[in-house]
Amino acid sequence: MKIEIDKYLKDLFPLNRSITGKPNRRSLKILKNIIPLKIKSIKSGTKVYDWIIPPEWNANDAYIKDSNGKKIISLKNNNLHLMSYSIPCNKKMNWNSLKNKLITHIKLPDAIPYRTSYYDPNWAFCVNQKQYNELKNSNGPFSVKIDTEFDKNGSLVYGEYLIKGESKKEILISTYICHPSMANDCLSGMILTALLARKMSNLKLKWSYRFVFVPETIGMIAYCKINEKKMKDIDTALVVTTVGGSGKIGFKESWDKNHKINSTIETVLKERKVNFIKYPFDIRGSDERQLSSQAFRINSATISKDKYFEYKFYHSSKDNLDYVKSINILKTLDIYLHTIRKIEKWKIYKTIMPNCEYMLSKKDLYNKIGGSFLEKDKSRQDILLWILFLSDGILNTQQISEKIKVSEAKIIELSNYLCKKGLLIKI
Ligand code: ZN
Repeated sequence: MKIEIDKYLKDLFPLNRSITGKPNRRSLKILKNIIPLKIKSIKSGTKVYDWIIPPEWNANDAYIKDSNGKKIISLKNNNLHLMSYSIPCNKKMNWNSLKNKLITHIKLPDAIPYRTSYYDPNWAFCVNQKQYNELKNSNGPFSVKIDTEFDKNGSLVYGEYLIKGESKKEILISTYICHPSMANDCLSGMILTALLARKMSNLKLKWSYRFVFVPETIGMIAYCKINEKKMKDIDTALVVTTVGGSGKIGFKESWDKNHKINSTIETVLKERKVNFIKYPFDIRGSDERQLSSQAFRINSATISKDKYFEYKFYHSSKDNLDYVKSINILKTLDIYLHTIRKIEKWKIYKTIMPNCEYMLSKKDLYNKIGGSFLEKDKSRQDILLWILFLSDGILNTQQISEKIKVSEAKIIELSNYLCKKGLLIKI
């Protein structure tokens, strides 16, 4: 699989992805070689909650030439040179005005930074310090050419793939497809997610798994809007991002730190003896921001390897194929697979009557003579009552076991008993 990952890294890296555009379609088509993704589109101009799908953007060419006609900066050398969503430009400029349109990396002088301006019509070139100096020392006026297109009749594309399990309830696994020519940020996540889906497609699964490949933020907002009703079937989500760096495994908790996905991932990491960094939930991040918003409140956790924001090559041309290795993507993939295995073992029950208590004596589950004193140790009846109280269709038996300090085996045995009595259902 290492060779396969290297091939996809090489094929997908050069494409100038953004939140819309032909390279996104091409990227999804390449991923179709791994899994039968359904490629879907949403028209530019469509309103999705508080946002509007922007016109489709495609960049044909962009360069800066000195007065002798020498191309000093060219989009053809690196996609990061042109700020994503730059508007067209064709003019002569002197150094004093051109320098205001150049962006360098504050911390890495030899790297080209990555910048976007999706919603503010603007243009800029991103350059390393050497290129900046070369321009500064060259003779102007400079010819600045940006050949980009904005198509109001275009669309935003995304990919979707569903693996049906026994249950209608779903686990959502999402990743984003909107970054050009960076290997850890975006690309590693796209490849890992597709490979994870392929591996899982051969398994007999309890949960259904929905994989989505969307442009970050606007794509996920659009996805949530289009699938608003379907989102109710999603129990938990994993947001896959930055999974191929050489640094430590990172685990970002979901918004409710007591949710079962967090203890599950932590258990996997400890069992695998992984030295990891735990990040608490933060509203700065990836598409967990949309999935966890008030209308959805889906607990969405992330396992990364060199998490976004944290590694020094983040959002720069140094996040490239020298930095990301297939072996690292495989290591993170292994942890995702073990997490899925644990998710498949979740045992979750739900009371069929959440409105107040059952009249248990009717089912022979309660002492007929009332008024007894509280005993120190939990009786079988106490445990049954706790199970009925806590089985909300969200908590799993491991969490209930931890909460009431009774073995998980006992909780499962008594939950099955309550199922037979018709008071609980298994999710
Ligand atoms: Zn990013």
